[in-house]
Amino acid sequence: MPGYVVIASSNGRVGIEAARDVLEREGSALDAVETGCRLVESNPADHTVGLGGLPNLIGEVELDASIMDGRTLATGAVGAVRGYEHPISIARRVMEETPHVFLVGEGAERFAREMGFERTELLTAESRRIWETKLEEEAPETEPGLMRYHENVSRWLSMIRDPERPAGGTVNFIARDRDGSLACGVSTSGWYCKYPGRLGDSPVVGAGNYADNRYGAAACTGRGELAIRAATAHSVVMYMRMGEPVESAVRKALEDVNSLEDPYATGLSIVAMDPSGRHAAGTNRPGAVYVWMDEDSAEFVESPRLLVRQVCR
Ligand code: ASP
Repeated sequence: MPGYVVIASSNGRVGIEAARDVLEREGSALDAVETGCRLVESNPADHTVGLGGLPNLIGEVELDASIMDGRTLATGAVGAVRGYEHPISIARRVMEETPHVFLVGEGAERFAREMGFERTELLTAESRRIWETKLEEEAPETEPGLMRYHENVSRWLSMIRDPERPAGGTVNFIARDRDGSLACGVSTSGWYCKYPGRLGDSPVVGAGNYADNRYGAAACTGRGELAIRAATAHSVVMYMRMGEPVESAVRKALEDVNSLEDPYATGLSIVAMDPSGRHAAGTNRPGAVYVWMDEDSAEFVESPRLLVRQVCR
């Protein structure tokens, strides 16, 4: 088994080599996942994470992230953060600088300011255009620019659904360093056109992210409400604790998700690693892949995810 290894959701391609370089220089798994997530957060072409992420119903980009240290189960998370490009790093500071694990909204923004993070306009011209076009198509009786002043936007929620995202929404990184420690990082702009203040699974430790050196680590992308209801990341790790190999732990956790009644019927995907660095990924949508690198990789490898199909209701 490799001494170090890093895996990511497919949109982690832009960050995985830098994450691997951290591990190669004997950096920690925590540093590697933070480094990888930051590069995805700075990629304006990725409309599901950080800068250029698609906004909520009223046109504000709200970011969520979490990070977990498998050595100690220390964790930090932020939710619904506006105006800061690197929620993964704010989450890490929550873990390292406060007695808390989770800050949201204005409190998280205040904390970011106090920690010296720079404010950034996250809504790019392109993500604004996508938001406006979507509203015009799906809620034609409203003007997108005025959406933020409407008293009651909840009625639009049922009309405007997150488009079926191709594989690659939200970023997951899991790393195992040379010391054999695991860490997991997740960052997202969440469900596009979500109700303001909505949190998905990404910042909810146990739902979208979990790492425990003794048993393994897991992270999710896709419809976060499902991963929260099934405590999916924690379930994968618990299945490994119960003796399941990593592939089978992913399969069982996806079967749990697939058994939930859900009128929105959107997908969920998982990446996971066991304590030895063996990894697997699963999805209930065909065609999804994940990426990984280890000590022997000259470049990242793209591997298919195990498909555990949703049964149509
Ligand atoms: N899991 C994210 C959320 O629910 C979204 C996604 O991965 O597409 O916020």
